[in-house]
Amino acid sequence: MSKRIALVAHDNCKTELLNWATDNLDALSQHHLLATGTTGALLEQRLHVPIERLLSGPLGGDMQLGARIAEGTIDALIFFWDPLTAQPHDPDVKALLRLAVLWNLPMACNTATADYIIRIPIIEHDRPDFHTLQEQRVAQILAQSSED
Ligand code: PGA
Repeated sequence: MSKRIALVAHDNCKTELLNWATDNLDALSQHHLLATGTTGALLEQRLHVPIERLLSGPLGGDMQLGARIAEGTIDALIFFWDPLTAQPHDPDVKALLRLAVLWNLPMACNTATADYIIRIPIIEHDRPDFHTLQEQRVAQILAQSSED
């Protein structure tokens, strides 16, 4: 079953992602692929498969991906972030990682884990239900405000 797989790599990790994607082209090409701008352009040229390209990561692409995760329109994230280099958009990177964890999204940040994710035929994940939590907070804040 086709899934929506997002791919992102920081500049020092792009070669690693391109090589991993090339090695896993057969599996990847069965899915809808999307990527941040530069990563997506490189993948398209290397793999010759369609990639939905968002903005470049530092220009808001990470935030676009984060929003999609929150909306539930991404099934897995392959995110090769650079552990050795400071990024100008570090807050966006943290936000993307945070949202992926919050929404229980299958996520791989290196080739070892990406190999697992791509080999599991059905990437299903239970999305947490934050609706009740939000309703409780609304009720709690309303109750507090009426006490004042
Ligand atoms: P890029 O963005 O694919 O546009 O380089 C990646 C990132 O830094 O998040």
